[in-house]
Amino acid sequence: MSGRKIALVTGANKGIGYEIAAGLGALGWSVGVGARDTGRREAAVEKLRAAGADAFGVPLEVTDDASVADAARLLEERGGLDVLVNNAAVTGGPQQQPTTADPGAVWAAVETNVIGVLRVTNAVLPLLRRSASPRIVNVSSSVGSFARQADPGYQSGPISAAYSPSKSMLNALTVQYAKELSGTNVLVNAACPGYVATDLNGHSGHRTPEQGAAIAVRLATLPDGGPSGGFFR
Ligand code: NAP
Repeated sequence: MSGRKIALVTGANKGIGYEIAAGLGALGWSVGVGARDTGRREAAVEKLRAAGADAFGVPLEVTDDASVADAARLLEERGGLDVLVNNAAVTGGPQQQPTTADPGAVWAAVETNVIGVLRVTNAVLPLLRRSASPRIVNVSSSVGSFARQADPGYQSGPISAAYSPSKSMLNALTVQYAKELSGTNVLVNAACPGYVATDLNGHSGHRTPEQGAAIAVRLATLPDGGPSGGFFR
C-alpha cells in the first residue's frame, strides 16, 4: 500500500466527475475513475495520469449489482477506500413534464441518481468504515430543493418529473444516511456544483466543470468533526 488516501468517483470519465477526480488527484490521492464504458474510462485514466494523478480505472455501472460488487472487490484489493463521491447521474430527458412523462424515463433517473447511490454506497461502506476519516459526497442539485422548486421567483430549469424529484430524493437520502451514521466518523453530505457546461445540459451551463467540482472536493476533504447531512453549494 502506498499510504495515499483512496477515492472513488462515479461517472468520472467526463464532466464534473472527471474534474472531481482531477482535483483529488492533485491532492496526491489515489483516484478510482468509476465509469461504465471501457474506452471512455481508459481515456480518462490516461489523461489524469498524464496530468500527474495516481488514477486507476474502476469498471462501474451503478445500476448493476454485479458491477458494483466487482468494483468494491477491486477497491478492497487496492487497499480500501477513504472517500466515495457519488457523481454519476442522468436527466431522464429534459422534457419530462409530469402530465406527459414517460414512466420509464422517470424510473431511469431514480434508478441511476438515487438507487445507484444507495447500491454503490452500501457496497463500499465496509471499506469506508475501516478508513480513519471516511467521507461520502453525493453530487446533487439545487433543483432538488423543495424550497426552490416552490419559489415562483426562482428559475430552476425545465419542469421535470424525473431529474428534479430524483435529486430531492437524493437530498433526503443523504440526510437519512447521516442520521444512521451519526456517532461514527463517516461524514455524508450533498453538494450542488452550480450550473455547469457539460453533456448533461448540452453545455448550456455558465460554470466550468472545474469550478463545479470544487464543492465536492471540499466536502471530500472535510476535517474530522465536520458537518454531516448537509447540502452545500
Ligand atoms: P455528465 O457530463 O453527463 O456526466 C455524467 C456522468 O455519469 C458520466 O460519466 C456518465 O457516464 C455517468 N453515468 C451516468 N449513468 C451512469 C451509470 N448508470 N453508471 C455509471 N456511470 C453513469 O454530467 P455532469 O453535468 O458532469 O453531472 C455530474 C453530476 O453533477 C450529476 O450528479 C449531475 O446531476 C450533477 N449536477 C450537474 C449540473 C450541471 O449543471 N451540469 C448541475 C447540478 C448538478 P457515460 O459517459 O458512460 O454516460
